[in-house]
Amino acid sequence: MLFIFCALFGKVYLDNAATTFCDEQVLWVMNQIYHRKLGNPYSNHCKGREARLEIAKAEEILKSCTKGKYVLWTSGATEANVIALQKPEEAGKTVTCVTEHKSILTAVDRLRNVVFIDVDHYGHIDLDHLKTHINRGTRLVSVMMVNNETGVMHPIAKIGALCHYHDVLFHVDAVAAFGKIDIDMEKLGIDMLTISGHKIYGPHGVGALVLSQKGYDALMEASSLQEGSLQERIRPGTLPTALCAGLGKAAELVCQKRDINFKQAQKQKEKFWKEFQERFPNAVEIGNKDWPYILNVRVPKEAKVNLPLILSKEFVFSAGSACSTGKPSHVLSAMGIDLKKNHVFRFSFGH
Ligand code: PMP
Repeated sequence: MLFIFCALFGKVYLDNAATTFCDEQVLWVMNQIYHRKLGNPYSNHCKGREARLEIAKAEEILKSCTKGKYVLWTSGATEANVIALQKPEEAGKTVTCVTEHKSILTAVDRLRNVVFIDVDHYGHIDLDHLKTHINRGTRLVSVMMVNNETGVMHPIAKIGALCHYHDVLFHVDAVAAFGKIDIDMEKLGIDMLTISGHKIYGPHGVGALVLSQKGYDALMEASSLQEGSLQERIRPGTLPTALCAGLGKAAELVCQKRDINFKQAQKQKEKFWKEFQERFPNAVEIGNKDWPYILNVRVPKEAKVNLPLILSKEFVFSAGSACSTGKPSHVLSAMGIDLKKNHVFRFSFGH
């Protein structure tokens, strides 16, 4: 059915893990803010106060969706990840996983004392190896909640409990998970949580690092400035009121409709995968079968068949993370997938 639909009406967008389209209600909120002509949120007059109120409202939404205590606004998840991972060089070891997003791997590249934990063929983290590195000499563990290419979930609650026990900071890149599953930073022991606006039907150019008290203290301690609020000390500059409010609204919507959206994605994935297998019987799912938002499939390459071209006439999809375009996926390589012999496609579902 889906394939017939495509033939009649054009391409179906299945790249929601790369970016989503801004929700109408989010656009409306942002539009209102631009039309109200608010001031600089740092200005001490009524127009500044109005802007500050809008930002504070958005912060409250992010905090209530995550049970975090503080919000640091950023330009997106990449910047939030970089900020979470910067540290005084003498502070101790950083532990992360080989299948993390490029923004994490690039950020830790600058650090001297880093340990990378491997994954198995299914993309599951080697928890025993990770455990041996969560100890007094470690400052921070950074592990993503859901992998953006495969949908594989890491055991965040277990890792959070270990970090908490050993007094190690715990950062989680929740870009692919936020608004899709319940995230309770207190219960999961998360100190810093990265989210991005454009992955949840919000605007591009805005993200946040949501913090626990411990995450907040760590960032404040790492700052070279002695005075000012969290934002002023860690990432100064005029906050974009409309973008912050847009992210707040987008977060509110995805958190409110989390369960409905989840079920809808399950149906979409099931239907698509059934039809895909009928058409390509040698296709194999290589990601997390239980994660409804991502279908990562491997299809053995055949001479003279340009499968990416055939599929791209009907669907908009990705061969991996949008951030690694053109390069072989480090995630799939870490899982031991032979990319010379296989095509790998990521179809990601959304509204
Ligand atoms: N982390 C993950 C897991 C992602 O999927 C992405 C986007 N591909 C990022 C970080 C970076 O997000 P942004 O575009 O907001 O910088």
